[in-house]
Amino acid sequence: MTTEAADSHAPRPASTALHPTGGFLKGFTHSLQPYIGCRFGCAYCYVQGSNVHRFFNGGFAWGDYAFPRQGVAEKLAQELARYKGKGQLQSLAIFCSSSTDPYQGAEREWRLTRRCLAAFVESPPGLLVVQTRSPLVERDFDLLSALGERCWLSMTLETDRDDVRQALTPHCPSIARRLATICAARSAGLHAQVAVSPCLPYSAVEEFGALLVELGQRVVVDSYLSGDGQGVNARRARRFRRRTPGLAGARGRRRKRPVRFTPGCASVWVSAPAGPRRGLPILRV
Ligand code: SF4
Repeated sequence: MTTEAADSHAPRPASTALHPTGGFLKGFTHSLQPYIGCRFGCAYCYVQGSNVHRFFNGGFAWGDYAFPRQGVAEKLAQELARYKGKGQLQSLAIFCSSSTDPYQGAEREWRLTRRCLAAFVESPPGLLVVQTRSPLVERDFDLLSALGERCWLSMTLETDRDDVRQALTPHCPSIARRLATICAARSAGLHAQVAVSPCLPYSAVEEFGALLVELGQRVVVDSYLSGDGQGVNARRARRFRRRTPGLAGARGRRRKRPVRFTPGCASVWVSAPAGPRRGLPILRV
């Protein structure tokens, strides 16, 4: 491994674990980031326009680094113990993760997400949503399963077209592999949500819509400029539109209408039907 490659994975000590949320994560009380940065490096990722990247990039471009937050699981265990002592665990609704993918390659070695899950099993919060696009999550089905009703696996599936995936997120797992993971999660009895986030060009609304309904107990659809992409700045949005003509929702009016997480809901949610292809229609299942 070169020095540069090693530095791009250099651990950073975690001072805290749970961060209070706001904005598009309305409905959650905290977010949890086991890593700083993300080697999946999606072209549209809003984090590259955020302070997280601006202040902690270590001189690397977005997608070129993933710093393990060393000790994050231990911090989490301490923080959960404090909530437990006050009888407040049930009030916690935690999203993991909003500025990294908790199951990117570094997790294979560092196992920070797995250790955090073990802390959650010890002190279960009211709600935990683990969102990823990586099949590595299958390794931790045992812990997700142990959390039972209070835990949802959210698998990101922005499109059903692997050519689109290869063009915009070439370092992310294939569509086929993600589909297999969602099916495996359902077979393992986990609560599984599909996050079309953001909605990229897809085959046809009938095909993709039918696939989504079949796959998940719950589906969330975001356009590029709303939902979890709404924090993107205008300059970056304009540049992205130029590079990706035809992107669903890219020309849409920006709306601030966060989608609340409602575990019992079995609907397809569209956070902002906008743009030339207008995303997916709202489907009731
Ligand atoms: S996987 Fe998520 S956090 Fe990572 S680059 Fe893609 S959108 Fe950003």
